[in-house]
This record gives sequence, C-alpha cells and structure tokens, in this order.
Amino acid sequence: MTTLIHRLGFRLILWVLLVGSVAVVAAVWVGSVQFAHSRMAQLVEQQQAQAHTQAVLASANLNQRIAQARGIAATMAQASNFQAALDRFGPHVQPSPLSRQERSELWQADPVLQPLSERMQYIVDKFDLHSMWVTNAAGDTVAEGHAQGTSSFLGTNYADRDYFKAARLGRDGQQFAVGRVTNMYALYMSSPVLVKDQFVGMVGVALAMPKLKPALGQLNAVVTDDLGVIVLAQDPALLMQTMPGATVGNLSAEAQDLRYKRTHFDAVDLRPAQGPQPLYPWHYLGQPHAMGTHPTSDGALHAYVLLDLGESLARIEHDQLWWFGVVSVLVLATTALAIGAAYYVTTMQRQQAALQALNHELDRQANTDALTGCANRRHFMVVLEQEISRSSRYGEDFCVLSADLDHFKRVNDTHGHAAGDEVLRHFVTTIGHNLRETDLLGRLGGEEFSILLPHTSVDGGVMMAERIRSSVEGSPALLGATRIAVTVSIGGIAVQAGAALGVDAVLARADEALYAAKQGGRNRVEWVPQWSAHAAPCS
Ligand code: GH3
Ligand code: MG
Ligand code: MG
Repeated sequence: MTTLIHRLGFRLILWVLLVGSVAVVAAVWVGSVQFAHSRMAQLVEQQQAQAHTQAVLASANLNQRIAQARGIAATMAQASNFQAALDRFGPHVQPSPLSRQERSELWQADPVLQPLSERMQYIVDKFDLHSMWVTNAAGDTVAEGHAQGTSSFLGTNYADRDYFKAARLGRDGQQFAVGRVTNMYALYMSSPVLVKDQFVGMVGVALAMPKLKPALGQLNAVVTDDLGVIVLAQDPALLMQTMPGATVGNLSAEAQDLRYKRTHFDAVDLRPAQGPQPLYPWHYLGQPHAMGTHPTSDGALHAYVLLDLGESLARIEHDQLWWFGVVSVLVLATTALAIGAAYYVTTMQRQQAALQALNHELDRQANTDALTGCANRRHFMVVLEQEISRSSRYGEDFCVLSADLDHFKRVNDTHGHAAGDEVLRHFVTTIGHNLRETDLLGRLGGEEFSILLPHTSVDGGVMMAERIRSSVEGSPALLGATRIAVTVSIGGIAVQAGAALGVDAVLARADEALYAAKQGGRNRVEWVPQWSAHAAPCS
C-alpha cells in the first residue's frame, strides 16, 4: 500500500479519491432516486387498487338503497288498487286543464286516490324515502306521499321527466334531478303501470341524496349522476361541480335547467397528472391523489373515491433525501480519512527520505577530506582497523602505502598556496585512476597520504606502489598554461595474516619505509624489510 502510494504520488491519489467519491455520491443519488421512484410506483399502485375497492364498496352500498326503492316502485306498479285507480284515467288521458291548486284539491278528496296517498305516505315514512307518487298517463301526479318537512306536490305534471318518458315506453326509468317543488337533490325512479298492456301511468319513488350519505361511510368519496355532476359529497361545496369526462355539457341549457335548475357547472379541481411518466395518476386540489370509480348497477350514480398521496409521497422523498445524505456524508468522511492517511504516509515518506539523504550527506562529510574528496584521516583509520581484523579472520594479506609529495613546499612557494591545493587534488585524481574498487586512499594530513590495498600480497603491493609513483611522475598538473610536475615518495608495508599489528604500528612502519624513500633520494618506493617477502627496494 505505502509503495503504491509512493509510486502514484499524493496528488494523483487525491484526484482519484475525489473523483471516485464524487462518482460514488452521484451513483448513490441516482440509485436512491430510482429506489424512491419504485417505492412511489408501488404505493400508487396499491392506493389505486384500494381506491377502486372502496369505490366498489360505496357503489354496492348505494345499490342496496336503490334496489330497495326500485323494488318498492315495481311492487306498487303491480298492485291491483294502483292499477285500478290509474285505469280510471285511461291510457289516453290529457293533462288536466285545471290549475294545480284545483287538481290537488280534487284528487286529494278522491275516495279512490286518497287511500293510495295514505299507503304511499306510510311507505315513505317506513323506508325513509324522499317521496313516492303516481302519475296518470298524461304525467299528472294524482296521489303522493312525501317526507316530513317537505311540501305536497300533488297535481304537478312530470311528463317532461326522463323517468316518465321511460315508463311510458314500458321501461323502468331513473334519473337524478333537483326537485321541482322541493328543490331536493334526489334520485327518481319509475315503474310503468300497465293495464291490459296499455300504459296508464307510473309509480315513482324518490331517494333524497343526503339520505344516501351513510352509504359512503368515512370514505373520501363523491357521487355523480349519470352525466358526471356531483350530487352527493361530504363537502357541500363540491355539489353541482363536474368530474372529468362529465357529459352534462351535451345537454341543452333548457334540459340542464329542467334537471338541475341551473345551466352553469364548475369543473372539480381534478385532472390527470402531467408529464410523460407522472409519479401519480391524479392531481386533486393541488395534491397528488389516487382515484377509483365504480357505477351503481343501474348506472344512475357513480361513486368516486379519492385517496390523498401527498403525505406518503413526501415521506418517501424525505426518506430518499435522508438516506442519500447519510450515505454521502459517510462516503465523504471515508474519502477525507483516506486523503488524510495518504497525506500522512506521503509526508512521512518524504521526511524520511530527506532525513536519510541528510544522514548520508553528514556521513559522507564526516568521512571525506574537504579539499580532495578522498577519505579523511578518521575514516581511513576506521577502515584500516576493520581490514586488520578482517585479515586475521580470513587469513588474507594486505598492504599499506604511505605517500608524501616531494618538495611540496616549493610548489607552494613557487606557484602559491591555491595552486598547491590544485596540485593536491590532481594528485588524488591520478592515484584514484590506479586503484581498485576495494582500495582506499586517505589524506592523513598536509601532503601526506596513505593507501590501503586489501587482499593484496607483497607482490601486488610492490606493483601498485610503483605504478602509482610512476603515474604521478608522468602526469604533471595543468593549471592554465602552467605545468606543475611533482613526484611522490612511497613507503610500503605488506601485512601478513595474523601479524597482530595495530593501526598505529602499521602506519608507523609504513612511515619508516617512507622516510627511507625520502632518504634514498625521493621519487621512489621503499618497503619495510621484515614484513615484505621481497624486501628489496623497487623503483
Ligand atoms: P619533503 O617532503 O620532500 O621533504 O619536502 P616538503 O617540502 O614536501 O616537506 P615539508 O613537510 O617541509 O613541507 C610540506 C608542505 O606542504 C608545507 C605546507 O606548506 C604544505 N602544505 C601542507 N598542507 C597543505 C595544503 O593543504 N595546501 C597547500 N597548498 N600546501 C600544504
Ligand atoms: Mg613532502
Ligand atoms: Mg610532508
């Protein structure tokens, strides 16, 4: 891991982590939105199904009341006293020319019609109906019963009502209408009364819409008539508004007025949700809704159930944002942690490398002669010491040469001290060319040097010393146009394995040989006789 970080570099890792975390956060967003949408779709589907079920339930409840009323109308239309009473008017009777008041008084006192009215009043009270009545073949109401608190409509003509027209054709009729006399919203049903297959009148039953309210229970439901006009609702403000798809507009104004006592209908604030793939089906009063609808079995009424989805959808959206926030914070925190760790590791590495380089440089400086770059006295002594013990451990001979420039004082005196420095550097370079990797040249002081030749017998040492001497002699230093030739005197000692000599003793003996070389005329090599296999001077 750390080498990977080292190889890539902090900057690259920073970018990778940042771009990576942004990508992860973006992926989390897309994923959370998709998940929220699938949850919403599931919720909407379930709520749609529930709205439908509730609409079926509401229409079933309505059916019960309608069927009861219809049964009453049908039963009475078959009753012999009803048939006989209407047969008196006959199939071809015309609307009465009398005023309604006169007709009402006439038929109220009629001994045949009066029991019918009493019978119907009894049924109205018993079954909680709005009203019940019979008309003759001309549409005049000849007997009736009505709910408490409403006024009598005896004598009124209903030939223009759709339910009457249906009855005249021998069919059961039904329609919603606003009561002509009572102003009551009611569902009107009719059954034809036939005598010898001739239409002699009809029995009508009216159910007041408010009485149907219990059929809706606690549901958020509205009920429309067959033309899409709301005729029953928990909220009275919705009454007489139209649901989407209403066909009341197809009626003439006259027909609208006849049925609803109005010609203007506001549309309910309900429309399909917009967009190519809306998350919910309906928009009602500015809120998302599910909606189910079902007609009653005679088609006279339609139950609509609306379920508010606003809160549930908002909760899903809230959940999505919450989870996205939590996961994003976690991702970003992890990224920040990783960036911190990478920064720490790279900084540590850089500091360690700098420290190592510094230590290395300090080591080098501590072991190196500042002027010439070869080993200094201290380092040479340490290596010589190691070589002495290594030699005795592995039984290997080694040689040490002491070298001193001849008449160097003259160089300084003639060319100056700076030139003398340059000559010293040149001298070190010249010797360096003749040494092996394992040999070590050290400046022990001034213009005095020592050379350690490990793993070298006296023969090799003698050869090396001579080579050094002659190459110094043959390579004068060039300072600009000035050639400065120098020579070197060398004293050598070949130390045999197990000689048991210390550093100082080795150097002292080499110095003795050097002294001999100086004494012998300089620019020559002398060997310590007792330690050399070939004690003879070699020049
Ligand atoms: P010989 O060794 O042949 O007997 O004669 P010499 O002149 O070389 O010997 P001596 O020891 O008398 O003089 C050594 C001179 O080396 C004295 C000093 O000025 C010079 N010297 C020592 N260290 C340095 C240095 O770092 N730079 C320069 N330019 N000269 C140095
Ligand atoms: Mg000298
Ligand atoms: Mg000297």
